[in-house]
Amino acid sequence: MPAVKGFLELLFPPRCPLCDRLLDISDIREKRSIHTACLARLYPVGQPSCFHCGKPLDNEAEEYCADCAARISKRRNFLPGNMPFSYITQGKALFVYQGDIRQTMYRFKYSNRREYARFFAEEACEKYGGWMLKNGIEAVVPVPMYKKKEKQRGYNQAKIFAKEVGKRMGFAFEPDAVRRLIETSPQKKLNAKERKNNIKNAFHAQDFVVKYSCILLVDDIYTTGATAEAVAGALCQAGISRIYFLSVCTGRGV
Ligand SMILES: [Zn+2]
Ligand SMILES: [Zn+2]
Repeated sequence: MPAVKGFLELLFPPRCPLCDRLLDISDIREKRSIHTACLARLYPVGQPSCFHCGKPLDNEAEEYCADCAARISKRRNFLPGNMPFSYITQGKALFVYQGDIRQTMYRFKYSNRREYARFFAEEACEKYGGWMLKNGIEAVVPVPMYKKKEKQRGYNQAKIFAKEVGKRMGFAFEPDAVRRLIETSPQKKLNAKERKNNIKNAFHAQDFVVKYSCILLVDDIYTTGATAEAVAGALCQAGISRIYFLSVCTGRGV
């Protein structure tokens, strides 16, 4: 099979993640997996951004986005003092989920454009490589999909991205560290509270992960953080004390 795969890659050279057209020879030569003009149409996450989850903020005076601020105040008001407001130490994202990248993410997820992971990983290492090393990341873990769903779709896009980041950074890649026990997709039928409870118990971390003390959890898109928190909670329960988070896209904070 690997020979067939290599042959297919030759037949179908890499495509630009933004416009989905074939990449130019000059782009490939410069080892850039996107057209220069398309790169300019992206919205990279910059400052100000939420200190905790990395969401871009409109107001420079704010330290946290609304979701993180709500978690912090909930801990202060309702939870016992030793409960963390988040299982994630800190999160980062590459791009704001707006404009053409929304179609990019759709193709990455549903149209078998796995090769986009190369560009995402290049950007991740360039932008956050120093941050990953400084924080002592040992292994990369993707947010898992329900097994049956992954089989039907053929792949898990978070896993593809995580593998590419791990390979480039020289970190261990642990795709089976966490299992998704419950299919959480028919979320539209649930209200906010039911959804939260549904996701809360959806993940289980394998015992072997305890050999790591610091993990980078990876997903394609970050929205409210409920899924990331649930996976991080499972890892925390398995004994991991430091969990960082990285996503390709993030929503805009308020
Ligand atoms: Zn392009
Ligand atoms: Zn935040």
